Amino acid sequence: MYFVNEAVKDLLKLYRRVWALSHAMSVMGWDLETYMPPEGIEERSVAHAELSLMVQELLLRKEFLEALERASKQESLNDYEKGVVRVLEREVRIAKALPPRLVEELARVTQEGRMAWKTAREKNDFGIFKPYLEKIVDLTKEKANYLGFKEHPYDALVDLYEEGMTTRDVDTMFSYLEPNIRRVLDKVLSDGKYSVDHPLEKEKYLREEAEKLNLAVLEAFGFPLGRRARLDVSAHPFTINMGVRDVRITTRYEGYDFKRTLFSVIHEFGHALYELQIDEELRYTPVGSGVSLGIHESQSRFWENVIGRSRAFVHAFIDLIRHVSPARNRDPEDIYIYFNTVKPSLIRVDADEVTYNLHIILRFKLEKLMISGEVRVADLPELWNYEMERLVGVKPKNYSEGVLQDIHWSMGSIGYFPTYTLGTLLASQIAHYMERDLNGLYEHVINKDFQKIKDYLREKIHRWGSVYTPKELLLRSFNESYNPEYFVKYLESKFSY
Ligand code: MG
Repeated sequence: MYFVNEAVKDLLKLYRRVWALSHAMSVMGWDLETYMPPEGIEERSVAHAELSLMVQELLLRKEFLEALERASKQESLNDYEKGVVRVLEREVRIAKALPPRLVEELARVTQEGRMAWKTAREKNDFGIFKPYLEKIVDLTKEKANYLGFKEHPYDALVDLYEEGMTTRDVDTMFSYLEPNIRRVLDKVLSDGKYSVDHPLEKEKYLREEAEKLNLAVLEAFGFPLGRRARLDVSAHPFTINMGVRDVRITTRYEGYDFKRTLFSVIHEFGHALYELQIDEELRYTPVGSGVSLGIHESQSRFWENVIGRSRAFVHAFIDLIRHVSPARNRDPEDIYIYFNTVKPSLIRVDADEVTYNLHIILRFKLEKLMISGEVRVADLPELWNYEMERLVGVKPKNYSEGVLQDIHWSMGSIGYFPTYTLGTLLASQIAHYMERDLNGLYEHVINKDFQKIKDYLREKIHRWGSVYTPKELLLRSFNESYNPEYFVKYLESKFSY
């Protein structure tokens, strides 16, 4: 019995309705990206907005607020109960802080902004998106002020995605990473072993063959397809959980360069496993899903990069990989290089393990300057290109492959990007502890023995859901908070220093 305190039990009873609405919205969100006919979008958006309002209303209802206050005043709550109170106090604080006028305006401007961004990107015309982004930045600054912050308005924004993380934390992380990644990148480029155009990147594959490989890998990982999980196709791969027993992932089949679909599946598997291994006692409660974007991304990056892009993985799966026609007759080392090519490029989502975080550093810098008012939206494209050349060493020739490439700002998601890097760092940090505690890691991969790895992740991360804040969880499980040194060591050893 995890929830024994009567006040907490009363609170959870009231919360159940919020949970049910969220459950319904997840199903709707999944359907929207997979099977909904495109013209259903308008009605679906209205339905979604109404349900979101209902959630807000339920959270701010007098009865609910009183129950929350009663629960928060209880002495000697256990950790699970404290987690419930923490998560709900945070949700209520955010809901109360933002005036409905601002929420509505942001919803409207970002909906229009998203359309404008799409057109702007297609037409390669920043001017189409600029007025919307200006409005979004202004509203976001207002939002930060309403939410409150200690040092920098960006603190309020990054905290929305990564509870407890501050601008200072992000600055510290990136000022260590930037020179170290540049150093590794220079070495990789001068060695030339990984900085190649691999022929498989252009080669077409048969969808059935790639599908078969994806399914075989998922089966070896123990993904409960057909019981608690699904794999579908969508324009942009994602994971969504309705609950601990219903988690769904998607991929896409571009038709060439089969590692793209394979690694998207492995990435989403990592997200899904987190949700699938949450303690079932936490179902229907506000602590029954993953705690933050950064911790979530650490799970997907762990499986994608640490496991999937390893020599051990290639050796374990080589026969299956060779069933995809372009890979037939290729030897494991060749496939390993194909999985790990490193090239400075313009598009973040196509970036490799070495250059990826440089793309994030650029976005963080620009976001911080926008929110503090030190840079105007009109100056973003030029600043983007300048930083891109300085950090990654390539310069966009147009807006679409530069400042217009990501959807995030058009959706008002400012403060989101640093969690990608946080996740990547944590993936190698967790791999380090795992190697230490399990007497090796790749020995298990090569034998396709993933149970120990999954059990370790369950014990250290997954089972806790959102019971602890991200920082508390790390300290509790590993005696250490985020530390970028593990990632740099990982890159150095992988790309053979
Ligand atoms: Mg992800």
